[in-house]
Amino acid sequence: MTSQMTVHVEDTEAHRIAARIVTPLGKAALVTTASNYDLDHSATPWLPPMLVAGMRKNWSIAFDSPVDSTALRGASAAQEVFLDWYPRRFRRVSVSAEPSDTLSASRGVGCFFSGGVDSFYSAITQSDRITHLIFVHGFDIAAGNEDLAGRALASARDAAAELGKPLIEVKTTLRSAFGDRLSLDWGYDFHGAALAHVGLALSGHLSTVLIPSSNSRWDQVIWGSHPDLDPLWSSGSVTVEHDALDEDRLGKIRRLATDETALQHLRVCWENRDGRFNCGVCVKCIRTKIGLAAAGAQSAALPGPIDLSAVRSSTLTNRDCHHLRNGLAAMAEAGVTDDGVVAAVDVAIRRRHWRRATSYLRRARSISIGLIRRRVS
Ligand SMILES: [Zn+2]
Repeated sequence: MTSQMTVHVEDTEAHRIAARIVTPLGKAALVTTASNYDLDHSATPWLPPMLVAGMRKNWSIAFDSPVDSTALRGASAAQEVFLDWYPRRFRRVSVSAEPSDTLSASRGVGCFFSGGVDSFYSAITQSDRITHLIFVHGFDIAAGNEDLAGRALASARDAAAELGKPLIEVKTTLRSAFGDRLSLDWGYDFHGAALAHVGLALSGHLSTVLIPSSNSRWDQVIWGSHPDLDPLWSSGSVTVEHDALDEDRLGKIRRLATDETALQHLRVCWENRDGRFNCGVCVKCIRTKIGLAAAGAQSAALPGPIDLSAVRSSTLTNRDCHHLRNGLAAMAEAGVTDDGVVAAVDVAIRRRHWRRATSYLRRARSISIGLIRRRVS
């Protein structure tokens, strides 16, 4: 038998929505989302994040107010996607809510806009359709980091003004007061549903919301925002689209290299070492600098040469190695190969292989010692 999580939508003012969520762990969480635009006060925006949490924890979900019927059908299909991806990590759960049919007269097209490569690319290439850009504080910038959030918001406001789009500003505790407290994995499990929450909450203004892709259609990985998953979060009022599958990251950077606004305001860093907007030394900053070098561009947001000692000492994942190799190949293709960068990337990739080999050896050694001990005893 599964335990139940209950979701109660609080009565709040127009620009703020809140839900009181009681989990089987006992404690209630009050989650709030606020904006400079008025928000959807139904239970519908809360469905995607609650579904992910329920499936990860094996809790059924009960809403005490109606949820849009299209969104409920989509959530049922989203369960199939998660179960297909993670037959053991996710569980099928029941969702109880009175279905409602909502139709909205909104015509707007919103696009999530963090200021990164993916969001700038969608904002520029879909500019004809897009009526609003959406900046969220509380997702990639931690809820308590007001200084960095303030600088990121100021930069997003300037960029939106230059791109000629009004900026919808959203601040939410969905990640800090709920997702993180339940240890939901932000990247793999939760962030797409969290973006959908914000998109559905803007039903009074938008009929479509674009989630800029992280990967091209040729480079798909299982990830919390995915072309098979994002559209399933749509409601009768708001269609959620996963945008820009035809271009990989280097192709996107090549496009941004021709856009002054993007070069001025690009924000790619999630580590923000020393509180810097783009730290310049994390793998994501380094990857972007390599992409810009291949495109023959300089960005005021990522100034200076590539820091070779930072490259050499990087701790890489498999995907980082893949992206760095692609970046170097693009530099070679563009005829701007930098031997120092090639050698530094080579050191970092060899260090990764060495680390993996020694960890296998350590594991093999501890297993054989265990076997010998068992035989002796
Ligand atoms: Zn960085």
